[in-house]
Amino acid sequence: MSKVEDFLTAEEEQEIVAAIGKAEKNTSGEIRVHIEKETSIAAIDRAVEVFQQLNMENTQERNGVIIYVAVKSHKFAIYGDKGINEKVNDDFWNCTKDAMANHFKEGNFKQGLIDGILHAGEQLKKYFPYQDNDTDELTNEISKG
Ligand code: CA
Ligand code: CA
Repeated sequence: MSKVEDFLTAEEEQEIVAAIGKAEKNTSGEIRVHIEKETSIAAIDRAVEVFQQLNMENTQERNGVIIYVAVKSHKFAIYGDKGINEKVNDDFWNCTKDAMANHFKEGNFKQGLIDGILHAGEQLKKYFPYQDNDTDELTNEISKG
């Protein structure tokens, strides 16, 4: 398991994209997944970099969330934009991360990502409920580095 392309099958990727669509029916928050081979820096720092590279601050409520995975480095992180951080505690993503880590440990990456995405949607629902006039502000497609 070293190449990004081997990490998920095309079918699994589509299931993940569908999970993002489902999660975004709970919240106005926008969730994206970025997968790359490795990183030499802390996963959370790299997540912030990628967040900026993907212009994920382009949401009206500043409520974009990135789920970042470095496959070969065995690292992942979740980072939410400032609109979220202004409203929640520092441990806000801990239970989402725990849900993912349990699957990742067993090599079940698809399920880890799906559970993480759906969990994130549930978490965000309380602070950023789904709006009837919702638009898909950030694409649900997986980003790969
Ligand atoms: Ca939306
Ligand atoms: Ca979206």
